[in-house]
Amino acid sequence: MLFFKEWIDAGFTYISDVFQDGKFIKPTYLLNKLTAKQKWITQYSKLQRAIPKLWKEILATGYNINTKTNFAPQIYTCKNLYWELVNDKAETSYAPMIWNHVIGINPEWETIWTFKIKNMPVKKIAQFNYYLLHDKIPHKQNLRKWKISVTDVCDDCSMLENCLNYMYECKRVKTYWDKISTIFSVILGLKFEIKLKHIICGHALGEMAHENQNIIIMVAAFAIYKTKILKHKYFEHVLTEELCIINRFKNNTFISDFIKYL
Ligand SMILES: [Zn+2]
Repeated sequence: MLFFKEWIDAGFTYISDVFQDGKFIKPTYLLNKLTAKQKWITQYSKLQRAIPKLWKEILATGYNINTKTNFAPQIYTCKNLYWELVNDKAETSYAPMIWNHVIGINPEWETIWTFKIKNMPVKKIAQFNYYLLHDKIPHKQNLRKWKISVTDVCDDCSMLENCLNYMYECKRVKTYWDKISTIFSVILGLKFEIKLKHIICGHALGEMAHENQNIIIMVAAFAIYKTKILKHKYFEHVLTEELCIINRFKNNTFISDFIKYL
């Protein structure tokens, strides 16, 4: 939800409303719609600055089953602030402070960092992992803090939408994770229940035997984020699309079986 009353009155309700053809709306378009125009310049530039770069990228790409996603090593040539942050050791100490408290365990953060960010070849997922580990994903509590939303209440369950609710506890999300757990149990032939700690820290991360499960859990978390930003209905659609792209390169039976059951 946007923060400016004048904009809401003019029909701009969600972030996606201020994007047209993948670009932030033009001032002329805004001015045609706004009735109260007094503060438009400040509001326009404020909002443009407030929207994280990754959202702009996602909104620019749009959701299209034929979209070619860059699962490619060219990301390593990308020199921007993000990669400088990733390579900055000081940053690694910040995530444990948030999550050790919430999950109540003390995992090997260096491994998590390496698997989920440093060695993650899909840049948009690495970026998402970075945001997740630092609790910078656009849940309502953050949006309110960033003055993009007036409320911190979840649209689906009317509870406080913090990282926990957004990624795991909210009913719609929990049903989705339960479905993934069930598919894992079927394929593995043993009971496997995905918990929040798996979403943040992975399951025996770094061990080859669990690599496919960890990839799926990671992409499944990304799918929640992308689906919510794009205001789509089913997390499964994005998850299937992203896994298909990854599996074009990996050609892994665990992942293709998983997609079939999804
Ligand atoms: Zn909720």
